[in-house]
Amino acid sequence: MKESNLIISVPANCKYCYKCLRNCPVKAIAFNGQHSFVVEEECIACGTCINVCPQHAKTYRKNLKEFEELVGKPFVLSVAPSFFANYDDPAKVISLVRRLGCVAVSETAIGAEFVGLEYLKYLNAGKKVLLTTSCPVVVNLVEQYFPKHIDYLIPVVSPAIAHAKFLEYRFGELPRVFVSPCVAKKEELKGYYDVVLTFEELDEFLAQYPKEEEEEEEDNDTCAPGTSYENGTPKQSHRFFPDPPYPNRARYFPASGGIIHTLEQDLFTHMIIEGINNLIDFLSNLETSTKEIQGTVLVEASACVGGCLNGPTIRKERNLLGRKEAIRKWNRILGELNQDGTRTVNPAYYKLALSRTFTDRSATKQVPDVEITRILQEMGKVHPAKELNCTACGYETCRDKARAVALGKAEKDMCFAYLVEKVSSFGNKVVDETPNAIVIFSNEKVIYLNPAAKRLFGSYDETTVLNICKRVSNEPYRIHELFLNGRKYYFYPKYFDLPEDGGSVLLFVDVTDIVVQREQMDELKRKTVEKIEEVLNNQMKLAQDIASLLGESIAETKAHFMEFKKYMIGDENANV
Ligand code: SF4
Ligand code: SF4
Ligand code: SF4
Repeated sequence: MKESNLIISVPANCKYCYKCLRNCPVKAIAFNGQHSFVVEEECIACGTCINVCPQHAKTYRKNLKEFEELVGKPFVLSVAPSFFANYDDPAKVISLVRRLGCVAVSETAIGAEFVGLEYLKYLNAGKKVLLTTSCPVVVNLVEQYFPKHIDYLIPVVSPAIAHAKFLEYRFGELPRVFVSPCVAKKEELKGYYDVVLTFEELDEFLAQYPKEEEEEEEDNDTCAPGTSYENGTPKQSHRFFPDPPYPNRARYFPASGGIIHTLEQDLFTHMIIEGINNLIDFLSNLETSTKEIQGTVLVEASACVGGCLNGPTIRKERNLLGRKEAIRKWNRILGELNQDGTRTVNPAYYKLALSRTFTDRSATKQVPDVEITRILQEMGKVHPAKELNCTACGYETCRDKARAVALGKAEKDMCFAYLVEKVSSFGNKVVDETPNAIVIFSNEKVIYLNPAAKRLFGSYDETTVLNICKRVSNEPYRIHELFLNGRKYYFYPKYFDLPEDGGSVLLFVDVTDIVVQREQMDELKRKTVEKIEEVLNNQMKLAQDIASLLGESIAETKAHFMEFKKYMIGDENANV
């Protein structure tokens, strides 16, 4: 399993709520140990996890550093059609980007014109179902999870790639930058653009430019947005607007039904499928439904519900209707730049190579049934009734979860039911094994005795036990002395009431050994003190006896000495 370098995890923020996993349509997020990460070979880059994570613990690879390196040098910019729905004033953004060194701002919708024409060719190729391939997430989904349906994908590059080829034709090796609301494009467009940004990143970059300066400059302009172009004809090729050539009908490509509209096809003959789960449902049952099809059905497929107009990083201040209206408004405004149609792109002129192939990148890994059953049993799901399929762990079923455990993508502890059972079985074990008696009782009866309580109170009738419990629980914070089964016990009781009249719990913490030890210590101390006292008294007496004997003897010695002195030195000096 390789960690995705497109969808990035921020482990420090993750709170293991599994919301991302619950919402990931292909369960491409692994949780093991203290680490959660997106599995590169399984992720289809839809960006859902980024938007649903309440802790901002999922994000995507940013490319602002690369963009910063381009700024100040000439480059060309491809703006996805939803650009005009994302910004309140797209003209200002275009003007600002030009000041950064952008020598041409071109609409990606030009690429969509090329692609639309290619799609039309396939409409007459005799296939029953044609899946559009403008959305890279749809292509990822088919290649990774439904490779058997690869033949239904229209083998044509996306509008963004077609546009890169167009820009290369027009501007040669000049660096190309692409901006859209899509995260998946960052991978898809590798090798076609030098920098691929989301609108969010472009916003972040442009935020460093002071607005005052920008506005002042625009105020002096004869074509300030919000004035002349709202009601009149904007100055052609002005720096506030994209450069020619212009698309014909493809500015609606990012909206629901935009491809069918561009191709001038009937919405009832063809169909729109949006949202990964709807696509999974559609692809899962594709073979059976194709039997009923007469002619060719073009399936306009988008990962995002509402198309790219609802792409993962588009600004959400406007709702989908507001964004669609913005596209209509800007189609009208930009249409003014090409009233006579002479600036409409002519795809036939460019002769670009727009076909592509697809690869079976199957991400589905098989796990033997016996392994799944073993893991289910380890999780305590020993029969089907124990398989709650509650989705709390992020997986649709307990079997899916067990499969993920077998693949090293999930842990058994992610199952709350398993965890609760594990904790309560630990709890039961503690209650069973503790040497302290636990009694649950109500006013009238003894409800429960744990094994230690049964050993202690088993030979007494219920009334006696109840009375003991009531008496002890009345004074819970002191040591109680009880005579039970012919011997003396000391207990320090702990007491609490269960909620909703569930009874009272009395825990008899057996402190007999401690109390007995303390009594023995006290006795030992008392005896030791007595002994010391006795020894001291004897010593004192002896000292007194010695002292009195010594006193008599010294007086006698002194008398003899005086006699001797008198004799030796004479009577007159004897007292000296
Ligand atoms: S949604 Fe996913 S990434 Fe975000 S906090 Fe929950 S588990 Fe972690
Ligand atoms: S980007 Fe989409 S597919 Fe990839 S992990 Fe997130 S939700 Fe799943
Ligand atoms: S529909 Fe969504 S995922 Fe697909 S290309 Fe558009 S923005 Fe990207």
